[in-house]
Formats: sequence, structure tokens, C-alpha cells
Amino acid sequence: MSFVSSKIAELSPSITLAVTSQAAKMKKEGIDVCSFGAGEPDFDTPQHIKEAAARALAEGKTKYTAASGLLELREAICAKLVVDNGLEYRPDQISVNCGAKHSCFNVIAAACGPGDEVIIPAPYWTSYPDMVRIAGATPVIVETKQENGWKMTPEEFESAMSPATKMLILNSPSNPTGAVYSKEELAAIGEICASEDILILSDEIYEKLTYEETPHVSIASLSKELKDLTIVVNGFSKAYSMTGWRLGYTAAPPELADAIDTIQSHTTSAPATFAQWAAIAALQGDQQVIEDMRQEFDLRRGYMLGRFSKINNVSIVEPKGAFYFLVNIGRMGINSMNFAEKLLSRMHVAVVPGIAFGADNTVRFSYACSLDVIKKGLDRFEEFCRAH
Ligand code: PMP
Repeated sequence: MSFVSSKIAELSPSITLAVTSQAAKMKKEGIDVCSFGAGEPDFDTPQHIKEAAARALAEGKTKYTAASGLLELREAICAKLVVDNGLEYRPDQISVNCGAKHSCFNVIAAACGPGDEVIIPAPYWTSYPDMVRIAGATPVIVETKQENGWKMTPEEFESAMSPATKMLILNSPSNPTGAVYSKEELAAIGEICASEDILILSDEIYEKLTYEETPHVSIASLSKELKDLTIVVNGFSKAYSMTGWRLGYTAAPPELADAIDTIQSHTTSAPATFAQWAAIAALQGDQQVIEDMRQEFDLRRGYMLGRFSKINNVSIVEPKGAFYFLVNIGRMGINSMNFAEKLLSRMHVAVVPGIAFGADNTVRFSYACSLDVIKKGLDRFEEFCRAH
């Protein structure tokens, strides 16, 4: 007999953990590991944001806030959504959550349950399918093609639909592919959602990190109909390098916003109060801090692009957003877990095996690490691929 609920027993533990914990162990032993595993910016949180948190603490802002978050923060988020995304929400449609991961979970739990299907284009962010399973719903994975830039076409979407389809999860810019959907691509997908009343979870956490003038478009901004079907997820982790602060948010149609608040009021309540005051400073302070980080990421992206294009046996799609390269290793005839383990043990290079994203012929390189590490790591990677 197991004490674990049957719903949880069917989940898979993080497959990426094996490689990352092995890399950490090797580093501790003094081995010079080049780690491309990070899912978080390698910059410190900007000083004025840290100061706002310290000020909040000094002023005694240490008590509960509303379960949906501070009104002042929700108002600041509304202002941001107008300026950046052309989206008008009332503060009671905003819920501040403990990281965008928590936001995604709340959205899925609020809208989906047994009998519902949720369409997830692969390669996907590793947590989506298991979040859907925890909610008791069924993930339906749509394989996208590398030649389409790892983006789901309307035809692929339609062929995955059934009368039980309740929600589509879109993540643009994408982790792990770096793909950014254009306005036209979103409109074509949105048209299908609107005609079938399919909800859209639009995870826009990498919104601020796009390159080569690629615009980020929120699918919710395309029409009133789509806004009424979309729950926008965003947060502070990637844009302001605030991963450890645990701050995300949702902007939702009223009925779903209320449901999200209800879940949150019975589970986590809002994030730490002083962190919420810091989030206001992030939104209202100098936005140049984002641009500085973005430019640094772009420099690394450009360097890696040049290197990958010259490495035998691998192929990539140029990422237009986020801070990852998804590298196709299919030609080498080895699955992603074995590949990542060998690369780590032989060459001391840590990457995330693509099986974690539903793409076993790939591995993911993050460029949230210094250019020195990137140069050294890619030298080793090149040597490894040459030997295969
Ligand atoms: N969505 C995507 C696509 C992500 O990559 C991440 C972070 N890895 C999150 C959501 C969660 O972000 P947070 O740290 O704010 O929970």
C-alpha cells in the first residue's frame, strides 16, 4: 500500500535534477564544470528594488496583504499591462502569486479538472504537463517541428483538438526553444480558440527578453473576444532578475480571477509583503536595468549562434527570445539523457536533456552564464560532437 495519492504517484520527478545535482556535486569536488543548466538570469537584482524591500521592512510592512496581493501593486501591474501590452484590466482582475510557476498552477487549477484536455505544444516548459495532471485534467501534447521554428501551426493545433479541449498553453517567448510567435501566427491560433471557446494560458514571463527587434505580442491584445478567453501570466523573475523573490501575477477575465483568488486564499495567500513593495519599485523604477541585461544576453546569444552553426552533427533554430538554445542532437543517435550524462562526465559540460521538455532529440543550453564559461564550454562541446 502507498500513502501517496494516486494522482501524485503518476507524476514524474524532475529528470533534469539528476544532471544538475551531479554538476553541483562535481563543482563541489573542485571540478571545473561549465554549466549551461541555469534557468535564471545570472545578474543581481537591481539595487533600487532591493532598497525598496529594505525600506518596506524598516517601515514595518510585515503583515498579511489581501490574498490577491497589495492593491498598490495590482494597480501598478494594471498600468504596466496598458503601457506594454495595450491591455486594460481592473485591479480585481489581477492576482499576485508566489512566482509565475504558481500563477500557471493557479490558472490551471481554476479552470481545468477531470474530463478536460489541455493542449501543450512541445517542446514545452517542463512543469506544464504535471500541473495539468495535478488538476486531474489530461495534457495533450502537440509535437511542433524544427523547420517551423518549433512553433505550433494552426493545423497541428486543430488536429489535437477534441470536444474535451478546455485550454491551450502558449509560452512566447518560449522556454526551451526561444521561439517568439508573431502577431499573425497568434491571430491564426486565436481564431481557432475563439471559434471553439478554448481558454488560453499565455505565459509571457520572457516578454522583456526578445532580440533583433522581435516584438512580443500578447494574444490577449488581439481582440476583445481573445482577451475574454485569455489568462495572462507574467512576473518579475526574468525581467528584473528576481527569481528568488517569488513574484508572479495573473490577469484574467473576472470569473477566473475570482476563482484564482479563492484558490490562493485557501492555500498560499499572497507573496511576502516586503517583496510586493519591491515589485512596485521594479515596475515604477528605471526600466533601463532590463535593457542592460537584455543587451548582455544578446551578446552571448550572438556568440553562441556563430559557434553552433559551425559545430558538426548539431542543428539549431535561431532563438529570438528568452535565454536558451535548443540544440538538436538527433543525428548522433543517442538519447538526450545519455548525451547529457556523457557530456557532463567526459567534458564537464552541464546541459538539460530535452526529454524534460518532451523533445528527446535535443539538449538545452542556457546562456545565463558568463561569456568566459560559454567560450570554454562550447570548445568542449565541439570536441565532444566531433568524436561522435
Ligand atoms: N514559465 C516559464 C516558461 C519559465 O521558464 C519559468 C521559470 N523557469 C516560469 C514560468 C516560472 O517563473 P517563476 O520563477 O516566476 O516562478
